[in-house]
Amino acid sequence: TWSAVPAGPPDPILGVTEAFKADTDQRKINLGVGAYRDDAGKPYVLPSVKRAEQILSSSVLDKEYLPITGLPEFTKNAAKLAYGGESKPLVSNSIAVTQSISGTGALRIGGAFLARFYPHTKVIYLPVPSWGNHTPIFRDSGLEVKGYRYFDKKTVGLDFAGLKEDLQNAPEQSIVLLHACAHNPTGIDPTPEQWKEISDIVKDKKLFPFFDMAYQGFASGSTGRDAFAVRHFVSQGHQIALAQSFAKNMGLYGERVGAFSLITADPEEKARVDSQLKIVIRPMYSNPPLHGARIANTILSSQELYSQWEGEVKGMADRIISMRDKLYDTLVGLNTPGEWGHIKSQIGIFTGLTQPQTKALAERAHIYMTSDGRISMAGLNAKNIEYFAESVSKAVKG
Ligand code: PMP
Repeated sequence: TWSAVPAGPPDPILGVTEAFKADTDQRKINLGVGAYRDDAGKPYVLPSVKRAEQILSSSVLDKEYLPITGLPEFTKNAAKLAYGGESKPLVSNSIAVTQSISGTGALRIGGAFLARFYPHTKVIYLPVPSWGNHTPIFRDSGLEVKGYRYFDKKTVGLDFAGLKEDLQNAPEQSIVLLHACAHNPTGIDPTPEQWKEISDIVKDKKLFPFFDMAYQGFASGSTGRDAFAVRHFVSQGHQIALAQSFAKNMGLYGERVGAFSLITADPEEKARVDSQLKIVIRPMYSNPPLHGARIANTILSSQELYSQWEGEVKGMADRIISMRDKLYDTLVGLNTPGEWGHIKSQIGIFTGLTQPQTKALAERAHIYMTSDGRISMAGLNAKNIEYFAESVSKAVKG
């Protein structure tokens, strides 16, 4: 029956881990997957998450199905975290929100909803480059994917002129995907001033902004600062769509905790959108998983746990920033040819190398990363940073 099924290519990101596992060298480093590691290189369960789990395990809770759109207190608190408690559409009960299977599921629900109901176009514009899963998510949701310029190879910075030109030349009312903070894979974000200009273009051209916020708090260490773009757009009256993930900022990767929300005109419109979100979700997976949403909600709804969590998010962000400083200093200290300032100015967990350098590192130094040269800074720590920097320096010198 399946003789005509062609073998598919391995996943470009998860495939790196396979190669890493097969390598027996002691010095090997995996910088492929974008999951946080502590300074001993180990997966990190946040103490606030452990405390929330203790609270949950000592409470009498059932394992009944959640509603189709998830745990209501969780979605309310997730929206508050993203939009801010004072947000006008939040206060006026005009935000339709549903729990999702982490950020990926949020993007997929949003893609499917837009493909079914957005009246103006089926085309979504993604930054070039973007997270590798964006294209298949939106294509499989029934949208057509196009790109807008984002990364400038020459300056290792934002191609702001190209970005503006492409958004200005897109047909009116096109859908535009924006990374809310810590752009993956480039680590380059617009400045607040640039976000304001982007917001103006989006308004002029009546574009529909779809924010992907997978790293709130994890980028700068402050959940408020990382939500700047989302909150600015909302303050300007944009009715945005938003995908949230709690994988990185709460370290809940495998629990699959996320939320998708849409700003609507008023509570009556919100009720209609809610009813259709349910109709989109019900045949996909019926209703979302319980445990992770309870953990996140326990943290978000307790003042004490919330402050503890904020400190822990900042701790993760700061450790990554300190690795960036150390990598920069070591590369410059070794007189490595090239301009390395971007390592310090980039935001979030990723930075990049060229493809030949990446290949040399895997073959000669047992250092693994995605073939596009994306490095997960979270895989670096006090023990391996020097070996890594020296290996990069050698690879660059050729
Ligand atoms: N968007 C971006 C930009 C990401 O980097 C990620 C995680 N790699 C996600 C969404 C979604 O991840 P998850 O489904 O694990 O929340």
